[in-house]
Amino acid sequence: MVALNEDLMARARQVIPGGVSSPVRAFGAVGGTPVFIQSASGATVRDVAGREYLDLVCSWGPALLGHAHPAVVEAVQQQAARGLSFGAPTEAEVVLADLIRGRVPAAEKVRFVSTGTEATMTAVRLARGATGRDVIVKFAGCYHGHSDALLAAAGSGVATQGLPGSAGVTAAATADTIVLEYNDVDALRAVFAEQGSRVAAVITEAAPANMGVVPPQDGFNAAIRQVTRDAGALMILDEVLTGFRVGPAGWWGLEAGVDAPAWTPDLFAFGKVVGGGMPLAALAGRADVMDLLAPLGPVYQAGTLSGNPLATAAGIATLSLADEHVYRHVDKASLTLQAAVDDALVAAGVPHVVQRAGSLFSVFFRDGAVRDYRDAKDQDTIAFGRFFHAMLDQGVALPPSAFEAWFLSAAHDDAVLERIIAALPQAARAAAAGSR
Ligand SMILES: *Cc1c(COP(=O)(O)O)cnc(C)c1O
Repeated sequence: MVALNEDLMARARQVIPGGVSSPVRAFGAVGGTPVFIQSASGATVRDVAGREYLDLVCSWGPALLGHAHPAVVEAVQQQAARGLSFGAPTEAEVVLADLIRGRVPAAEKVRFVSTGTEATMTAVRLARGATGRDVIVKFAGCYHGHSDALLAAAGSGVATQGLPGSAGVTAAATADTIVLEYNDVDALRAVFAEQGSRVAAVITEAAPANMGVVPPQDGFNAAIRQVTRDAGALMILDEVLTGFRVGPAGWWGLEAGVDAPAWTPDLFAFGKVVGGGMPLAALAGRADVMDLLAPLGPVYQAGTLSGNPLATAAGIATLSLADEHVYRHVDKASLTLQAAVDDALVAAGVPHVVQRAGSLFSVFFRDGAVRDYRDAKDQDTIAFGRFFHAMLDQGVALPPSAFEAWFLSAAHDDAVLERIIAALPQAARAAAAGSR
């Protein structure tokens, strides 16, 4: 049965670099052959050999309602029959923008793009255009997609591969990018004391989840807001992963509060859940800043497939169904699973720490809390690989890297959780044993 995945991978390698369309899918961090998915439904994905796995990847976040939710599929099918793409404005874009603004009032205006990479890349360009300044501050281990200026000390696939950044990114492209350790307020203040007047923006993951889950310490996001405002720089909150996943108004809603927010960024980047599994992302924020985008303003941005009708249909259906009940369910399921993972690893005597940000969590195989990228890299990724494969052998698909969050959905009900939890002791023993 497994041979089918191996055969396909051999074919894929002939025509696709590394056999995959995005690096982390290649299983480089855990070894073995990637599972080629043929279909998915609810909490389950099924591979080309017909084997089913309970899925804790959820398409890296978008499948908040579970895979192939009937209402989302129907919305896409109905739109498909009316046309796939027009290259012209549609009512659905207005509806989706209103849904976003209804949840995140500070997203006063919204521009749709196709990927999170475009959203953050454009947010950076916009911040530079708005301030007339060049410097961007980012944090090590925060991943903002693969645009040149932001591919310095990024997490996610870049962390998995241990690349310093990427070949092909010129020194000039990152010369104006300052990288600081995450959660280090003193370093942030020092940079602003020295060269705050040169900074266009600080970009940060709302709650980092691309170096494993490393939540902001109390007051860290608020401190970013304070120093940027004082210096006349912008704050870009990257909620591509957290937005509409950890709560109705993303991490910002959880931490700052929606009605009388303790702090608010100038710009947001959204992706993943907002497209309901289709290629759709957005940048959003202060109207006066957003209106600097073409055609109103001098900051150019465009996209043939931006605001694609199928993608907006999936986004509208997903946000419409993602109510308080869904978020409560995912929160509860996450807490249950976190506790079970912890118990299993304690019982097997495996050093570990489970870290969470809302319903997102990940496990670091190390002693002691992880507060930045240096800590995150100091973990036993080999033990994670054994843990991962022991879960996979038992029919549970974890993210294939120790640097990624685990994702749950509304379809992860008690029966699904029980089956996942039943697989944990054997995986924990594999992590402990040094062999599987
Ligand atoms: C996934 C992700 C991105 C990039 O989005 P793509 O759609 O993969 O380009 C950017 N920022 C964060 C925080 C992400 O998790």
